[in-house]
Amino acid sequence: MGPRRHSTASSDSRRLRVAIIGAGAAGLVSARECMREGHEVVIFDKGDHVGGVWVYSDETELEDELGINADRLRVHSSLYSELRTNLPRELMSFSDFPFTVKAMGAVSVDPRRFPRHEEVLRYLWLFALEYDLLKLARLNTSVNTITPLPTPEGALGPQWDVTYTSTERGQKVQATETFDAVISAIGNYHEPNLPNVPGLHSFPGKQIHCHNYRDKHRFKGQRVLVVGASFSGDEIARQIASVATQVIQCARSWASGPNVVLPPNLTRSPMVARLTKDGRSIFEDGKEWQPDSIVYCTGYKYAYPFLPSNLLDIEDFRVGHLYNHIFHPEYAPTLSFIGLIVRSVRFPQFEAKARYVARSLSGRLKLPSKTDMWDDIVSYYARLEGLGVPMRYAHSQGKGHSPDSAWVYNDKLATACGPDVPLTEPWRVRLSELSFMQIFNRPESFRDRSTEEEQKAYDIAAAACDRM
Ligand code: FAD
Repeated sequence: MGPRRHSTASSDSRRLRVAIIGAGAAGLVSARECMREGHEVVIFDKGDHVGGVWVYSDETELEDELGINADRLRVHSSLYSELRTNLPRELMSFSDFPFTVKAMGAVSVDPRRFPRHEEVLRYLWLFALEYDLLKLARLNTSVNTITPLPTPEGALGPQWDVTYTSTERGQKVQATETFDAVISAIGNYHEPNLPNVPGLHSFPGKQIHCHNYRDKHRFKGQRVLVVGASFSGDEIARQIASVATQVIQCARSWASGPNVVLPPNLTRSPMVARLTKDGRSIFEDGKEWQPDSIVYCTGYKYAYPFLPSNLLDIEDFRVGHLYNHIFHPEYAPTLSFIGLIVRSVRFPQFEAKARYVARSLSGRLKLPSKTDMWDDIVSYYARLEGLGVPMRYAHSQGKGHSPDSAWVYNDKLATACGPDVPLTEPWRVRLSELSFMQIFNRPESFRDRSTEEEQKAYDIAAAACDRM
């Protein structure tokens, strides 16, 4: 890998003690950016490895595969065994740490452009090793609560008591420590959302949320209803169709184009309107079917169980009210959220947000006043309303959901950080446009076959990664 840009804070910057909750991609890059600013960092993760959602586990929430009960035994990862990335690897690279086979060398286990999940985990491990982040991580340590304390004199925001439970050799130990700031990086694909379908709770067949989908083989020879048509819905419906007798996929709207090629035993239907006690699914067009199993690929809700209940105004799909999707004005900059935006290219965006937070904490970056942050939030919500975007897309940067594209947003953060922070490279913008198009237009083949235009974009991306 090439030389790194190390941007460090000056000696008069504030150096704070920062707790990062989560050691996934967002938490790791937050730790690196905080270290670069001179902060003292502790990363808490309830899992036993760093890597977050990319730490695959066969384990599911077996007793409650719809994820209904709040006190169920929880599994963090939502990956399925066959999962390959839906973005080309170069695009997932952090700005100065290429996710290429050439850079990963002998550590790489899947050289493909859209590799299996194990390759992503290895990339994140390499990243943690390169920046010496493992020594900061307290694994098997679950944060239970964070509580704001009064703002110390001269500080920008409140300190926080962080109460956690560590599990060491089977023993649980609870403790509380005080930090100057908390960064939440707990991911947003672990609290299943279910659609409001009458009869769902009394349907006699097997029902699971895709959070608990690991392997298609459990559906062999079955008639399976897949509800939902975003990335996961499309992909899981195809996988199950390769072993099931028949699959019907139903949805309110379709992310992929009408001309996609479907396997012969997979058909599309309008949304399921209700389910009956005798095992029938009645669709919105009045048709009926009798599925053996139902898989809900209906997304995830935001949930931050460690936050005091009155701290933020959290609805299922919106964490209100956050300035730049990061800071609540009353607690800025000492409480921040990395990683709640969806439909963006996540890793480089985590990096942009993490740098912005780390510099806000050190004082290198001056945030607007509380009043200006509130005004900005109110005007952002008004812009969404004006565009007719429902509030459930408040953190989505998908096409038609957000006034700004993800890259424009990242660049706003970069500009606020200062002139030493480079803006998004044009190759990323082009490659992401092509990538989101191909996911929806050629879901069956985009990973293994590319058009001439895509190949050209891949070559440019690979060359850019070589220069990192
Ligand atoms: P996570 O990776 O979820 O990490 C959060 C961490 O927080 C976990 O390790 C968890 O144990 C820890 N944690 C949670 N609560 C607590 C607590 N109370 N105390 C202590 N620790 C806690 N992105 C892509 O870029 N490309 C892809 O191809 C892609 N495919 C995906 C496929 C699927 C099926 C899913 C679900 C996601 C996919 N993503 C993909 C998105 C993926 O979620 C992000 O890329 C990213 O890895 C999320 O990182 P994160 O750090 O925000 O969260």
